[in-house]
Amino acid sequence: MLEVSLVIGRDQIDKIIEREKPKRVGLEAPDGLLDHLLRLSQEITKKHGVETVVLLDNTWGTCDLVNFDVKRLGVDLVFNIGHSIGVEKLGRHTYLIDAEYRADFRPVLDRAVELLRKSGYSSVGVVTISNHKSQLDAAIEYLRQKGIEAQKGEAEGPLFDGQVFGCNFHSARKIIGDVQAFLFMGQSRFHSLGVCLSTRKPTFMLDPFFNEVVNIAPEAALFEKKAILSIYKARDARSFGIIMSLKEGQLFRKQALELKQELEKLGKVVQLFSLREITAQRLKALRGIDAFIETACPRVSMDNYDFDRPVLSYQQGMGLVRLFKGQEMGDVFDYSFWV
Ligand code: SF4
Repeated sequence: MLEVSLVIGRDQIDKIIEREKPKRVGLEAPDGLLDHLLRLSQEITKKHGVETVVLLDNTWGTCDLVNFDVKRLGVDLVFNIGHSIGVEKLGRHTYLIDAEYRADFRPVLDRAVELLRKSGYSSVGVVTISNHKSQLDAAIEYLRQKGIEAQKGEAEGPLFDGQVFGCNFHSARKIIGDVQAFLFMGQSRFHSLGVCLSTRKPTFMLDPFFNEVVNIAPEAALFEKKAILSIYKARDARSFGIIMSLKEGQLFRKQALELKQELEKLGKVVQLFSLREITAQRLKALRGIDAFIETACPRVSMDNYDFDRPVLSYQQGMGLVRLFKGQEMGDVFDYSFWV
C-alpha cells in the first residue's frame, strides 16, 4: 500500500473563523474522517478560542447537512469536512471544507494507460470525488502527455467539473458521446459502478492506494441484477410504503406524490412515510406493508441487501409502475440524477 496523507483545509477554516467570528462551531464529517475531528476541535479551540460541538450523526454527503438545526444547537456555523463541491458555503450556515488524500496517481495512471492501449481505447472521460478534487486536472494532463485524449465533463449545479456523486453522474454523461471509456480516480467502487451504469461505458477505478486498475463492469452487472430483481419482487406487493426523507437535500416530495398517485391509479394501497435514516432495522418494526419505495437516497435501496422486503429507489419505482402498466421496465440507470 502506498503512503498517503489526508490534508484537511485548515487554512479555509482559519479564514472563515477570522471573517465570521463565531463563538461556537459545529464539526461534522463522514465516518472515515471522524477521528480527525477530535484533533481539529482542539486546534480550533486553542488557536481561535472558539468552542466546538462534534456532530456524531451520519453525514452521507452534501444532501445530509444540518443547516436547520444550527440555531437549536446553539452554534453559529458548521464545518462539514470532506464533502466539498464547487462552492464553499451550502445553505445558511454550512461551510464545506476540503479533505483530500494526497496520493500520487502517476503509478496507477501508468497502469491505466497500458490497459487502455491494450483495449484499444484512446479517449477517456475522467471523473472523481471531492477527496481528489485538486488532483483531477493534473491527472488529465498526465494522460494527455501519454497520448490519451482525456477530458472532464461540465458539472451540474454546484458540483465541480468532473465530480460525481453516488446519485449524480451529470459530468460523466455530458461527455458520453466523446469518449470510449471512463476512469474514476479514487478508491470507491460505490461511485465507479454508478458511473459505469449511468453511462454504459467501460469504466475503470484507479485506486492510488493499492496501485490497482479495476474493471468495474462485472460488479456493476451484479449490482444491476440485484436492483432489477428487487423490482420484480415488488411486483407481488399489494401495499406500498412511500418514504420521504427529512434530510435537507433528500426530500423529494414531488416524486413521492407522483409515485403515490401512479400506484393508486393501479389499485395499490399506498401509505406515505417520512424517515431520516432508512435502515432494515427501522423498517422491520413496521408490518403490514409489502414493499417500500424510498425517494431519499437512491443508493440506500440499491446498496443494502439486508432489507426483509423489497425497497426500491424512485427510478426503480417508476420502472415498477411501467411493468404494472404492461410496458417495458426501461433502463432505470439511464439518468444523470438517480432520484
Ligand atoms: S448518493 Fe445518496 S448520500 Fe450520496 S449524494 Fe446522493 S443522495 Fe446523498
